[in-house]
Amino acid sequence: MMDVNYHSHTARCGHADGTEREYVEAALQKGFRVFGFSDHTPQPYPEEKQVSRMRMKMKELPEYCRTVLDLKEEYKDRIRIHLGLEVEYMPKYFDELCRAADANGVEYMILGQHFVTDAGEHSDEFTGFYAGIPTPDPAVIRAYVDSACAAMATGRIVYFAHPDLIRFVGDPAVYDSEMRRLCEAALKNHVPLEINMLGVMEHRHYPTEAFWKIVGETGNDVIWGLDAHHVSSIGRPEVLADTQALTDRYHLHRITHLPMDDDLFEKTE
Ligand SMILES: [Zn+2]
Ligand SMILES: [Zn+2]
Repeated sequence: MMDVNYHSHTARCGHADGTEREYVEAALQKGFRVFGFSDHTPQPYPEEKQVSRMRMKMKELPEYCRTVLDLKEEYKDRIRIHLGLEVEYMPKYFDELCRAADANGVEYMILGQHFVTDAGEHSDEFTGFYAGIPTPDPAVIRAYVDSACAAMATGRIVYFAHPDLIRFVGDPAVYDSEMRRLCEAALKNHVPLEINMLGVMEHRHYPTEAFWKIVGETGNDVIWGLDAHHVSSIGRPEVLADTQALTDRYHLHRITHLPMDDDLFEKTE
């Protein structure tokens, strides 16, 4: 059973379909009580030189935010809508991004570390390494975990989306110790880890069994996220069943919602 989701995209990122209103209507139809938008964050890259194919531009952020906040008000008696972003942690852009997000009323940020960077001055999606590409290099997984830990320590991240996006194909002992380090940082910073249901739906390399086995041992809070890139991702019984099975297999501690929605669930749970 799932009636809360904080991970959804819109056509604005350039690789998803659907308007915000279409997602809200689909969520209502499937009985959701909370629906959060977390489109891929824009990045304050130097304009024109660097054009990303996976995110809106900075100048498009205000319209996205206005659209979601208007719907939040319009639908407030039927469903709770939240305005969020799926952010990348790139130190050289993060403060400016936070300022823009705050100025536009963004309520929450989830972390999606799609790029492995050196966490230093020169890291961005153009010079970095896509985390989903298989690599046997211990330095890459180490850099991924370093970035994730630094991001979670900022206090801005409400949960970590597809933490197992990194596709390490080297020594399993390295995978185990690095991902255990990630889980411990998440515990320390009270950041829940997401089982990514787009990965479940499309049988991607994540959710990664070896990772969720570790999470079962470290005892992190776990949250389910649709990562909807299309309205048809909402409320699919077979995906729910597979996600439940994974949760049960490793005895994961699932939380159904974030603290900002505690008031909605107090009486029923
Ligand atoms: Zn996407
Ligand atoms: Zn993502």
